[in-house]
Amino acid sequence: MQCPKCKSENVRRFSIVYEEGTFHGTSHGTTENSSYENDHFSQTPLAKRCSPPIEPSAGYILGLIGFLAALIFGFKFGSLLNGFWWGVFAFFVALMALGLFWRRILAKQSFVRYSIQMNEWQHSWVCIKCGTDFLF
Ligand SMILES: [Zn+2]
Repeated sequence: MQCPKCKSENVRRFSIVYEEGTFHGTSHGTTENSSYENDHFSQTPLAKRCSPPIEPSAGYILGLIGFLAALIFGFKFGSLLNGFWWGVFAFFVALMALGLFWRRILAKQSFVRYSIQMNEWQHSWVCIKCGTDFLF
């Protein structure tokens, strides 16, 4: 494996650079009256550049609407059949159906783009010497 630009052998896969340069951690501490916990997330600029694509997300509003719609449906269905567990069952079925509908139809383009980007990311390399990135 060689860099196409400077011919250096010092090249790395994007996923390795990303893992190497990304840090997650938690710190615990106590003050006089309470204890606290902090989450840390830090990333080197190179790791940021080599980050995988982000999976499309329905977002807060759309997720909430879907959740409420499924809840109402479950409630109606449950009272129709006069059974609480039927309602719970209908709620989960509706939630799954809505999720599938969103993935397969509404956000289909985003998911197609995401899978292409993911595939590219898996085949991306960066040269540590000159900083060029390339696909292999
Ligand atoms: Zn290079």
